[in-house]
Amino acid sequence: MDHFLYRNGVLHAEDVPLTDIAATVGTPFYCYSTATLTRHFRLFQEALAGMDHLICFAIKSLSNQAILRTLGNLGAGMDVVSEGEYRRAQAAGVPGARIVFSGVGKTRAEMAYALTHGIRQFNVESAEELRVLSEVASSLGAVAPITLRVNPDVDAKTHEKIATGRKEDKFGVPITHAREIYAEAARLPGIEVVGVDVHIGSQLTDLAPFEAAFTKIADLTRALRADGHTIRRLDLGGGLGIPYTRSNETPPLPTDYGAMIKRVLGDLDVEIEIEPGRLISGNAGVLVASVLYLKQGEGRDFLILDAAMNDLIRPAMYGAHHDIIPLQEAQAAAAPQPVDIVGPVCESGDTFAKARPMPALAPGDLVAFRSAGAYGAVMSSEYNTRPLIPEVLVKDDQYAVIRPRPSFDEIINRDKLPEWL
Ligand SMILES: *Cc1c(COP(=O)(O)O)cnc(C)c1O
Repeated sequence: MDHFLYRNGVLHAEDVPLTDIAATVGTPFYCYSTATLTRHFRLFQEALAGMDHLICFAIKSLSNQAILRTLGNLGAGMDVVSEGEYRRAQAAGVPGARIVFSGVGKTRAEMAYALTHGIRQFNVESAEELRVLSEVASSLGAVAPITLRVNPDVDAKTHEKIATGRKEDKFGVPITHAREIYAEAARLPGIEVVGVDVHIGSQLTDLAPFEAAFTKIADLTRALRADGHTIRRLDLGGGLGIPYTRSNETPPLPTDYGAMIKRVLGDLDVEIEIEPGRLISGNAGVLVASVLYLKQGEGRDFLILDAAMNDLIRPAMYGAHHDIIPLQEAQAAAAPQPVDIVGPVCESGDTFAKARPMPALAPGDLVAFRSAGAYGAVMSSEYNTRPLIPEVLVKDDQYAVIRPRPSFDEIINRDKLPEWL
């Protein structure tokens, strides 16, 4: 459920008509709902109630500081994958004790930065990284708390580009080698083992792969404890999927996910950490765009928008579907007609949807891409020298621009000419 609903025929974000925001901010823009973010975070809190737990929002899905501050104020931890993300979490006021550092390629500088400023744990992805982390920590007179990310060899049955838990994926250490690497970790001076980490992929629409992975993690936890390690924390990653179409998708609910976690891991007496991104941020955001042209092609019509693949790359990159709806509610009487919905970028890949049934729209009309909160703004670029589009946050009847649209001068003046020119 989200808080983008029609009222009196106009799509609102909470109590604000999106047409009002479009009139002052201009299109395209992203708009997020505080109530939806809050609701999704609380669903996880409730799902894990009764277990010692921390919900670490995966910043990579939506990283604006206003969003991080909103979630941080609710008690969220943060899952970061770079020093930049670490600094964003810090700037949003989240203490190091609630920040976990994930990622397959952490640099020495990133490790040192996190160790110096405070870290809950590093999720280490290889024996090689473990040795480097021990060196960096020792050189700072510190000890790095770690989990080892294990690769359970489970197929998440999701899109190829976002499956991470099969043995051919680059992530984690094979679960079959985990005990040897934990034994090495225990001998390294700059390392303190605190738990085990797993993350098998994103946009999972079935609990079975999670359960298969968590069952392996439970067995591993028992084996590691028998080997003498202190395993007090299990980081279960993120990955719970969301419905991208209104009609036919019913991914599992956080309650079912939480109940399964309790069933599979409840008797281990561990603290549970999860790292949801998409489920918190995905349906908490829309992208609003204007229709520029309706172009008649041969055998197909094109709806050309002022938003493009550089603003929202998911359709081009993953073949992802986003529902696209008019800001002025369509009249039930008018039959939808199929159109290809495209942006102005000079690539045929700049196509949001093909033969999508849409109500009649005219130049100047506004549309919203639903479920655009996660992996939307964060993956945007200035390709074609199109300015990054603004982000707006709504709370009840208020809204604020939380990232303004840059001017062309700001963009162009970042380039520096060498002396010889
Ligand atoms: C991407 C990622 C997440 C978040 O995944 P979602 O599908 O957005 O929930 C969590 N943990 C790690 C390690 C990730 O790489």
